[in-house]
Amino acid sequence: MLNYLRSVEKSQTLLLNEQSRNLESSGQEVFKFGFGQSPFPPMARAIEALKAHAHRKEYSPVQGIAELREAVAKFHREIEHIDITADRVLIAPGSKILIYSVMAAFTEADILIPTPAWVSYQPQAELLGHASIRVETSYEGRWRVTSQAIENAVRQKKNKNAPSILIFNYPGNPEGLTYSESELKTLADTFRKHNILVVSDEIYGLLNHRGQHQSLARYYSENTIVTGGLSKWCGAGGWRLGIALLPKNLGGDFKDTLLGIASETYSCAALPVQLAAIEAYKNDKITQDYLAHQRRILARIGAHVQEELSQAGLLVHAPQGGFYVFVDFSAHQKNLGEIGVKTSHELCARLLADTGVALLPGDAFGMASEHLSARLAYVEFDGVAALAASEKIGLEQELPSTFLQTHADKTLRGISRLRQWFATLAITESTKEKLIA
Ligand code: PLP
Repeated sequence: MLNYLRSVEKSQTLLLNEQSRNLESSGQEVFKFGFGQSPFPPMARAIEALKAHAHRKEYSPVQGIAELREAVAKFHREIEHIDITADRVLIAPGSKILIYSVMAAFTEADILIPTPAWVSYQPQAELLGHASIRVETSYEGRWRVTSQAIENAVRQKKNKNAPSILIFNYPGNPEGLTYSESELKTLADTFRKHNILVVSDEIYGLLNHRGQHQSLARYYSENTIVTGGLSKWCGAGGWRLGIALLPKNLGGDFKDTLLGIASETYSCAALPVQLAAIEAYKNDKITQDYLAHQRRILARIGAHVQEELSQAGLLVHAPQGGFYVFVDFSAHQKNLGEIGVKTSHELCARLLADTGVALLPGDAFGMASEHLSARLAYVEFDGVAALAASEKIGLEQELPSTFLQTHADKTLRGISRLRQWFATLAITESTKEKLIA
Protein backbone atom coordinates (compact mmCIF):
# COMPACT_ATOMS: atom_id res chain seq x y z
CA MET A 1 0.00 0.00 0.00
CA LEU A 2 2.72 2.44 0.98
CA ASN A 3 4.28 2.06 -2.46
CA TYR A 4 1.37 4.11 -3.69
CA LEU A 5 2.03 7.07 -1.43
CA ARG A 6 2.56 10.38 -3.15
CA SER A 7 6.00 11.84 -2.70
CA VAL A 8 5.42 15.13 -0.97
CA GLU A 9 8.22 16.43 1.16
CA LYS A 10 7.44 18.38 4.26
CA SER A 11 7.83 22.05 3.42
CA GLN A 12 11.57 22.77 3.62
CA THR A 13 11.02 25.97 5.53
CA LEU A 14 9.37 24.06 8.37
CA LEU A 15 12.10 21.42 8.41
CA LEU A 16 14.78 24.04 8.76
CA ASN A 17 12.96 25.62 11.64
CA GLU A 18 12.97 22.25 13.37
CA GLN A 19 16.71 21.79 12.81
CA SER A 20 17.55 25.18 14.26
CA ARG A 21 15.32 24.45 17.25
CA ASN A 22 17.25 21.24 17.88
CA LEU A 23 20.58 23.08 17.77
CA GLU A 24 19.24 25.72 20.11
CA SER A 25 18.02 23.19 22.62
CA SER A 26 21.55 21.74 22.66
CA GLY A 27 22.72 25.13 23.97
CA GLN A 28 24.13 26.74 20.80
CA GLU A 29 23.09 30.27 19.88
CA VAL A 30 21.14 30.11 16.66
CA PHE A 31 20.37 33.09 14.43
CA LYS A 32 17.06 32.15 12.91
CA PHE A 33 17.16 33.77 9.51
CA GLY A 34 15.62 30.71 7.88
CA PHE A 35 11.95 30.81 8.71
CA GLY A 36 9.95 33.76 7.38
CA GLN A 37 7.44 34.58 10.05
CA SER A 38 6.41 38.14 10.85
CA PRO A 39 7.96 39.23 14.17
CA PHE A 40 5.27 41.87 14.73
CA PRO A 41 2.15 41.42 16.84
CA PRO A 42 -1.28 41.55 15.20
CA MET A 43 -3.03 44.89 15.47
CA ALA A 44 -4.28 45.38 19.04
CA ARG A 45 -7.90 46.00 18.09
CA ALA A 46 -7.95 42.83 15.99
CA ILE A 47 -6.72 40.84 18.99
CA GLU A 48 -9.45 42.37 21.12
CA ALA A 49 -12.06 41.50 18.51
CA LEU A 50 -10.77 37.93 18.33
CA LYS A 51 -11.14 37.58 22.10
CA ALA A 52 -14.59 39.10 22.02
CA HIS A 53 -15.74 36.69 19.31
CA ALA A 54 -14.13 33.52 20.66
CA HIS A 55 -17.57 32.11 21.45
CA ARG A 56 -18.71 32.33 17.83
CA LYS A 57 -18.67 28.70 16.82
CA GLU A 58 -20.83 28.57 13.73
CA TYR A 59 -19.70 27.64 10.27
CA SER A 60 -19.62 30.71 8.09
CA PRO A 61 -20.63 30.96 4.43
CA VAL A 62 -17.98 29.25 2.29
CA GLN A 63 -17.02 32.48 0.53
CA GLY A 64 -16.54 34.31 3.84
CA ILE A 65 -18.87 36.60 5.80
CA ALA A 66 -20.29 39.51 3.83
CA GLU A 67 -19.11 42.17 6.26
CA LEU A 68 -15.50 41.07 5.96
CA ARG A 69 -15.72 40.76 2.18
CA GLU A 70 -17.09 44.31 2.03
CA ALA A 71 -14.26 45.54 4.26
CA VAL A 72 -11.59 43.77 2.22
CA ALA A 73 -12.95 45.09 -1.08
CA LYS A 74 -13.14 48.67 0.22
CA PHE A 75 -9.64 48.42 1.72
CA HIS A 76 -8.01 47.27 -1.49
CA ARG A 77 -10.05 49.65 -3.65
CA GLU A 78 -8.89 52.60 -1.58
CA ILE A 79 -5.29 51.60 -1.06
CA GLU A 80 -4.47 49.99 -4.38
CA HIS A 81 -7.07 51.63 -6.61
CA ILE A 82 -8.24 48.36 -8.02
CA ASP A 83 -11.68 47.49 -9.24
CA ILE A 84 -12.98 45.00 -6.69
CA THR A 85 -16.34 44.40 -5.08
CA ALA A 86 -17.35 42.16 -2.18
CA ASP A 87 -19.01 39.56 -4.43
CA ARG A 88 -15.58 38.80 -5.96
CA VAL A 89 -13.70 38.51 -2.67
CA LEU A 90 -12.99 35.02 -1.32
CA ILE A 91 -11.97 34.43 2.28
CA ALA A 92 -10.17 31.22 3.27
CA PRO A 93 -7.94 29.78 6.00
CA GLY A 94 -4.78 31.26 4.46
CA SER A 95 -3.90 32.34 0.95
CA LYS A 96 -1.90 29.16 0.40
CA ILE A 97 -5.06 27.08 0.04
CA LEU A 98 -6.53 29.73 -2.25
CA ILE A 99 -3.56 29.51 -4.60
CA TYR A 100 -3.91 25.73 -4.52
CA SER A 101 -7.65 26.01 -5.22
CA VAL A 102 -7.07 28.21 -8.26
CA MET A 103 -4.73 25.56 -9.67
CA ALA A 104 -7.17 22.82 -8.65
CA ALA A 105 -9.99 24.52 -10.56
CA PHE A 106 -8.48 23.28 -13.82
CA THR A 107 -8.38 19.70 -15.02
CA GLU A 108 -5.22 20.54 -16.91
CA ALA A 109 -2.97 23.57 -16.72
CA ASP A 110 0.63 24.64 -17.13
CA ILE A 111 1.83 26.39 -14.01
CA LEU A 112 4.48 29.01 -14.78
CA ILE A 113 6.68 29.57 -11.74
CA PRO A 114 9.56 32.06 -11.63
CA THR A 115 12.92 30.87 -10.34
CA PRO A 116 13.54 31.65 -7.55
CA ALA A 117 10.04 31.59 -6.04
CA TRP A 118 8.35 30.67 -2.79
CA VAL A 119 8.74 27.00 -1.85
CA SER A 120 5.13 25.83 -2.04
CA TYR A 121 4.04 26.72 -5.58
CA GLN A 122 5.80 23.86 -7.33
CA PRO A 123 4.73 21.11 -4.87
CA GLN A 124 1.15 22.37 -5.17
CA ALA A 125 1.29 22.08 -8.96
CA GLU A 126 2.79 18.60 -8.63
CA LEU A 127 0.12 17.45 -6.17
CA LEU A 128 -2.49 18.36 -8.75
CA GLY A 129 -0.65 16.62 -11.57
CA HIS A 130 -0.15 19.89 -13.46
CA ALA A 131 2.96 20.52 -15.51
CA SER A 132 5.16 23.27 -14.12
CA ILE A 133 7.39 25.43 -16.26
CA ARG A 134 10.04 27.52 -14.56
CA VAL A 135 10.49 31.14 -15.67
CA GLU A 136 14.16 32.04 -15.46
CA THR A 137 15.46 35.19 -13.79
CA SER A 138 18.95 36.27 -12.75
CA TYR A 139 20.79 38.28 -10.13
CA GLU A 140 21.86 40.73 -12.87
CA GLY A 141 18.21 41.14 -13.88
CA ARG A 142 17.26 41.76 -10.22
CA TRP A 143 15.48 38.39 -10.16
CA ARG A 144 12.67 40.04 -12.21
CA VAL A 145 10.42 38.16 -14.59
CA THR A 146 10.79 39.66 -18.06
CA SER A 147 8.59 39.43 -21.14
CA GLN A 148 11.36 37.49 -22.84
CA ALA A 149 11.43 34.91 -20.04
CA ILE A 150 7.64 34.56 -20.29
CA GLU A 151 7.94 34.03 -24.05
CA ASN A 152 10.56 31.32 -23.43
CA ALA A 153 8.33 29.62 -20.87
CA VAL A 154 5.27 29.68 -23.13
CA ARG A 155 7.35 28.10 -25.90
CA GLN A 156 7.94 25.09 -23.63
CA LYS A 157 4.23 24.28 -23.35
CA LYS A 158 3.46 20.76 -24.57
CA ASN A 159 -0.26 21.34 -25.01
CA LYS A 160 -0.64 24.82 -26.42
CA ASN A 161 -4.37 24.77 -25.58
CA ALA A 162 -3.89 24.08 -21.88
CA PRO A 163 -4.43 27.16 -19.74
CA SER A 164 -1.27 28.91 -18.55
CA ILE A 165 -1.27 30.08 -14.94
CA LEU A 166 1.59 32.27 -13.82
CA ILE A 167 2.27 32.58 -10.11
CA PHE A 168 3.66 36.06 -9.72
CA ASN A 169 4.83 37.27 -6.33
CA TYR A 170 6.03 40.72 -5.26
CA PRO A 171 7.41 42.13 -3.05
CA GLY A 172 8.94 38.73 -3.36
CA ASN A 173 9.75 35.81 -1.25
CA PRO A 174 12.68 35.01 -1.43
CA GLU A 175 14.20 38.20 -2.87
CA GLY A 176 12.33 41.13 -1.29
CA LEU A 177 12.07 43.04 -4.56
CA THR A 178 9.16 44.68 -6.31
CA TYR A 179 8.21 45.78 -9.86
CA SER A 180 7.99 49.32 -11.17
CA GLU A 181 4.85 50.59 -12.86
CA SER A 182 6.47 50.41 -16.28
CA GLU A 183 7.67 46.85 -15.67
CA LEU A 184 4.14 45.85 -14.68
CA LYS A 185 2.66 47.50 -17.78
CA THR A 186 5.12 45.80 -20.10
CA LEU A 187 4.52 42.43 -18.48
CA ALA A 188 0.75 42.95 -18.65
CA ASP A 189 1.04 43.27 -22.45
CA THR A 190 2.86 39.95 -22.62
CA PHE A 191 0.39 38.23 -20.28
CA ARG A 192 -2.46 39.56 -22.46
CA LYS A 193 -0.79 38.40 -25.64
CA HIS A 194 -0.63 34.83 -24.30
CA ASN A 195 -3.91 34.92 -22.39
CA ILE A 196 -2.14 34.02 -19.16
CA LEU A 197 -4.13 33.77 -15.95
CA VAL A 198 -1.98 35.37 -13.28
CA VAL A 199 -2.19 34.60 -9.59
CA SER A 200 -0.58 37.73 -8.24
CA ASP A 201 0.58 36.76 -4.77
CA GLU A 202 0.74 40.20 -3.16
CA ILE A 203 0.80 38.97 0.42
CA TYR A 204 3.76 41.30 1.15
CA GLY A 205 2.24 44.24 -0.78
CA LEU A 206 1.34 46.26 2.30
CA LEU A 207 4.90 45.75 3.55
CA ASN A 208 6.41 47.54 0.58
CA HIS A 209 8.99 49.52 2.54
CA ARG A 210 7.88 52.80 0.99
CA GLY A 211 4.19 52.03 1.14
CA GLN A 212 4.06 52.23 -2.64
CA HIS A 213 2.84 48.82 -3.67
CA GLN A 214 1.04 48.75 -7.01
CA SER A 215 -1.16 45.80 -7.76
CA LEU A 216 -0.86 44.00 -11.09
CA ALA A 217 -4.67 44.07 -11.13
CA ARG A 218 -4.42 47.75 -12.07
CA TYR A 219 -2.72 46.93 -15.35
CA TYR A 220 -4.05 43.47 -16.13
CA SER A 221 -7.46 43.64 -14.50
CA GLU A 222 -9.13 41.11 -16.80
CA ASN A 223 -7.03 38.10 -15.80
CA THR A 224 -5.36 38.75 -12.46
CA ILE A 225 -6.34 37.03 -9.25
CA VAL A 226 -4.74 38.89 -6.35
CA THR A 227 -4.05 36.89 -3.19
CA GLY A 228 -3.13 38.21 0.24
CA GLY A 229 -4.32 38.06 3.82
CA LEU A 230 -3.38 38.74 7.41
CA SER A 231 -0.29 36.53 7.66
CA LYS A 232 2.39 39.08 6.86
CA TRP A 233 1.20 42.67 7.18
CA CYS A 234 -0.89 41.87 10.24
CA GLY A 235 1.59 39.49 11.88
CA ALA A 236 -1.03 36.76 12.11
CA GLY A 237 0.15 33.75 10.09
CA GLY A 238 -1.29 31.34 12.64
CA TRP A 239 -4.72 32.91 12.51
CA ARG A 240 -5.00 31.52 9.00
CA LEU A 241 -6.86 34.21 7.11
CA GLY A 242 -6.27 34.58 3.39
CA ILE A 243 -8.07 36.48 0.69
CA ALA A 244 -8.42 36.25 -3.08
CA LEU A 245 -9.67 39.08 -5.27
CA LEU A 246 -11.18 37.76 -8.49
CA PRO A 247 -11.37 39.70 -11.75
CA LYS A 248 -14.80 40.58 -13.14
CA ASN A 249 -14.86 37.97 -15.87
CA LEU A 250 -14.01 35.20 -13.39
CA GLY A 251 -16.81 36.09 -11.00
CA GLY A 252 -19.24 33.49 -12.45
CA ASP A 253 -18.49 29.84 -13.27
CA PHE A 254 -14.89 30.10 -12.17
CA LYS A 255 -15.88 31.51 -8.79
CA ASP A 256 -18.46 28.73 -8.42
CA THR A 257 -15.76 26.14 -9.09
CA LEU A 258 -13.54 27.69 -6.42
CA LEU A 259 -16.42 27.72 -3.97
CA GLY A 260 -17.15 24.08 -4.84
CA ILE A 261 -13.55 23.13 -4.05
CA ALA A 262 -13.74 25.15 -0.83
CA SER A 263 -16.97 23.57 0.29
CA GLU A 264 -15.60 20.04 -0.26
CA THR A 265 -12.30 20.76 1.49
CA TYR A 266 -11.73 23.55 4.01
CA SER A 267 -15.38 24.74 4.32
CA CYS A 268 -14.59 28.24 5.61
CA ALA A 269 -12.12 30.35 7.57
CA ALA A 270 -12.64 30.34 11.35
CA LEU A 271 -15.51 32.69 12.16
CA PRO A 272 -13.87 34.47 15.14
CA VAL A 273 -10.85 35.19 12.94
CA GLN A 274 -13.05 36.59 10.19
CA LEU A 275 -14.73 38.86 12.70
CA ALA A 276 -11.34 40.00 14.00
CA ALA A 277 -10.15 40.61 10.42
CA ILE A 278 -12.91 43.18 9.94
CA GLU A 279 -11.03 45.30 12.47
CA ALA A 280 -7.76 44.87 10.58
CA TYR A 281 -9.23 45.70 7.16
CA LYS A 282 -10.05 49.30 8.02
CA ASN A 283 -8.18 51.87 6.03
CA ASP A 284 -7.91 54.37 8.87
CA LYS A 285 -5.11 56.07 10.79
CA ILE A 286 -4.65 53.15 13.18
CA THR A 287 -3.98 50.72 10.34
CA GLN A 288 -1.90 53.22 8.36
CA ASP A 289 0.31 53.98 11.36
CA TYR A 290 0.64 50.31 12.30
CA LEU A 291 1.88 49.65 8.76
CA ALA A 292 4.15 52.70 8.66
CA HIS A 293 5.95 51.60 11.83
CA GLN A 294 6.51 48.08 10.55
CA ARG A 295 7.75 49.40 7.23
CA ARG A 296 10.31 51.76 8.64
CA ILE A 297 11.68 49.11 11.00
CA LEU A 298 11.92 46.55 8.20
CA ALA A 299 13.44 49.11 5.83
CA ARG A 300 16.11 50.00 8.39
CA ILE A 301 17.04 46.39 9.12
CA GLY A 302 16.88 45.32 5.47
CA ALA A 303 19.20 48.16 4.41
CA HIS A 304 21.72 47.22 7.10
CA VAL A 305 21.66 43.54 6.15
CA GLN A 306 22.20 44.35 2.49
CA GLU A 307 25.06 46.77 3.14
CA GLU A 308 26.89 44.39 5.46
CA LEU A 309 26.53 41.39 3.20
CA SER A 310 27.65 43.37 0.15
CA GLN A 311 30.75 44.35 2.05
CA ALA A 312 31.44 40.67 2.65
CA GLY A 313 31.60 40.31 -1.14
CA LEU A 314 28.17 38.72 -1.43
CA LEU A 315 25.73 39.64 -4.19
CA VAL A 316 22.51 40.96 -2.77
CA HIS A 317 20.02 43.63 -3.88
CA ALA A 318 18.71 46.24 -1.47
CA PRO A 319 15.29 44.95 -0.37
CA GLN A 320 12.17 46.95 -1.25
CA GLY A 321 9.49 45.11 0.67
CA GLY A 322 8.68 42.24 3.00
CA PHE A 323 11.47 40.80 5.11
CA TYR A 324 13.78 38.76 2.91
CA VAL A 325 16.95 39.10 0.88
CA PHE A 326 18.18 36.47 -1.55
CA VAL A 327 21.94 36.15 -1.33
CA ASP A 328 24.10 34.97 -4.20
CA PHE A 329 27.38 33.55 -2.88
CA SER A 330 28.88 32.72 -6.26
CA ALA A 331 31.70 35.27 -5.86
CA HIS A 332 33.09 32.89 -3.21
CA GLN A 333 32.47 29.75 -5.25
CA LYS A 334 36.15 28.84 -5.62
CA ASN A 335 36.96 29.24 -1.93
CA LEU A 336 33.82 27.41 -0.91
CA GLY A 337 34.58 24.57 -3.32
CA GLU A 338 37.96 24.14 -1.66
CA ILE A 339 36.37 23.52 1.72
CA GLY A 340 33.98 21.00 0.17
CA VAL A 341 30.96 23.29 -0.20
CA LYS A 342 29.49 22.72 -3.65
CA THR A 343 25.72 23.08 -3.19
CA SER A 344 23.41 25.56 -1.50
CA HIS A 345 22.43 22.84 0.97
CA GLU A 346 26.04 22.17 1.93
CA LEU A 347 26.58 25.89 2.26
CA CYS A 348 23.63 26.37 4.63
CA ALA A 349 24.58 23.31 6.67
CA ARG A 350 28.16 24.59 6.98
CA LEU A 351 27.08 28.10 7.92
CA LEU A 352 24.68 26.76 10.53
CA ALA A 353 27.36 24.56 12.06
CA ASP A 354 30.16 27.18 12.00
CA THR A 355 28.26 30.38 12.80
CA GLY A 356 24.85 29.35 14.14
CA VAL A 357 23.26 31.31 11.26
CA ALA A 358 20.28 29.52 9.75
CA LEU A 359 19.46 30.33 6.13
CA LEU A 360 17.25 28.58 3.64
CA PRO A 361 19.13 27.15 0.63
CA GLY A 362 18.46 28.45 -2.86
CA ASP A 363 17.40 25.06 -4.15
CA ALA A 364 14.29 25.22 -1.94
CA PHE A 365 13.24 28.10 -4.21
CA GLY A 366 13.86 26.21 -7.42
CA MET A 367 17.49 27.17 -8.06
CA ALA A 368 19.86 24.46 -9.31
CA SER A 369 21.38 22.80 -6.26
CA GLU A 370 24.93 23.88 -7.28
CA HIS A 371 23.84 27.50 -7.45
CA LEU A 372 25.30 28.94 -4.25
CA SER A 373 22.41 31.02 -3.00
CA ALA A 374 20.19 31.26 0.06
CA ARG A 375 17.33 33.27 1.47
CA LEU A 376 17.86 35.32 4.58
CA ALA A 377 14.75 36.38 6.53
CA TYR A 378 15.64 39.36 8.69
CA VAL A 379 13.03 38.69 11.33
CA GLU A 380 15.32 37.73 14.18
CA PHE A 381 14.20 40.49 16.54
CA ASP A 382 11.50 41.16 19.09
CA GLY A 383 8.78 42.68 16.93
CA VAL A 384 6.56 43.52 19.89
CA ALA A 385 9.28 45.61 21.55
CA ALA A 386 10.50 47.16 18.28
CA LEU A 387 6.97 48.17 17.27
CA ALA A 388 6.26 49.65 20.71
CA ALA A 389 9.53 51.61 20.61
CA SER A 390 8.82 52.96 17.14
CA GLU A 391 5.31 53.98 18.23
CA LYS A 392 6.76 55.76 21.25
CA ILE A 393 9.16 57.72 19.04
CA GLY A 394 6.27 58.63 16.76
CA LEU A 395 6.16 58.86 13.00
CA GLU A 396 7.04 62.57 13.01
CA GLN A 397 10.56 61.67 14.11
CA GLU A 398 13.09 59.42 12.44
CA LEU A 399 14.24 56.29 14.22
CA PRO A 400 17.48 57.06 16.07
CA SER A 401 20.75 55.70 14.69
CA THR A 402 20.97 53.40 17.74
CA PHE A 403 17.62 51.75 16.99
CA LEU A 404 19.09 48.57 15.54
CA GLN A 405 21.61 48.10 18.36
CA THR A 406 18.78 48.43 20.86
CA HIS A 407 16.12 46.43 19.09
CA ALA A 408 17.76 44.14 16.58
CA ASP A 409 20.99 43.28 18.30
CA LYS A 410 20.71 39.60 17.49
CA THR A 411 20.21 40.35 13.80
CA LEU A 412 23.31 42.56 13.84
CA ARG A 413 25.36 39.87 15.55
CA GLY A 414 24.19 37.14 13.21
CA ILE A 415 25.03 39.24 10.16
CA SER A 416 28.40 40.15 11.58
CA ARG A 417 29.15 36.44 12.17
CA LEU A 418 28.43 35.82 8.49
CA ARG A 419 30.74 38.68 7.52
CA GLN A 420 33.53 37.36 9.70
CA TRP A 421 33.10 33.84 8.34
CA PHE A 422 33.45 35.06 4.76
CA ALA A 423 36.38 37.31 5.69
CA THR A 424 38.19 34.30 7.14
CA LEU A 425 37.40 32.31 4.04
CA ALA A 426 38.92 35.01 1.85
CA ILE A 427 41.96 35.35 4.12
CA THR A 428 42.58 31.61 4.08
CA GLU A 429 42.55 31.80 0.31
CA SER A 430 44.90 34.76 0.01
CA THR A 431 47.28 33.29 2.60
CA LYS A 432 47.34 30.08 0.60
CA GLU A 433 48.06 31.99 -2.60
CA LYS A 434 50.90 33.80 -0.89
CA LEU A 435 52.33 30.51 0.38
CA ILE A 436 52.16 29.01 -3.08
CA ALA A 437 53.84 32.12 -4.52
N1 PLP B 1 2.83 33.43 -0.42
C1 PLP B 1 4.07 33.72 -0.01
C2 PLP B 1 5.03 34.32 -0.97
C3 PLP B 1 4.46 33.44 1.30
O1 PLP B 1 5.70 33.74 1.70
C4 PLP B 1 3.53 32.82 2.18
C5 PLP B 1 3.91 32.45 3.55
O2 PLP B 1 5.05 32.28 3.90
C6 PLP B 1 2.26 32.55 1.69
C7 PLP B 1 1.93 32.86 0.40
C8 PLP B 1 1.23 31.85 2.54
O3 PLP B 1 0.49 32.69 3.25
P1 PLP B 1 -0.80 32.27 4.07
O4 PLP B 1 -0.39 32.29 5.49
O5 PLP B 1 -1.81 33.33 3.71
O6 PLP B 1 -1.25 30.92 3.63
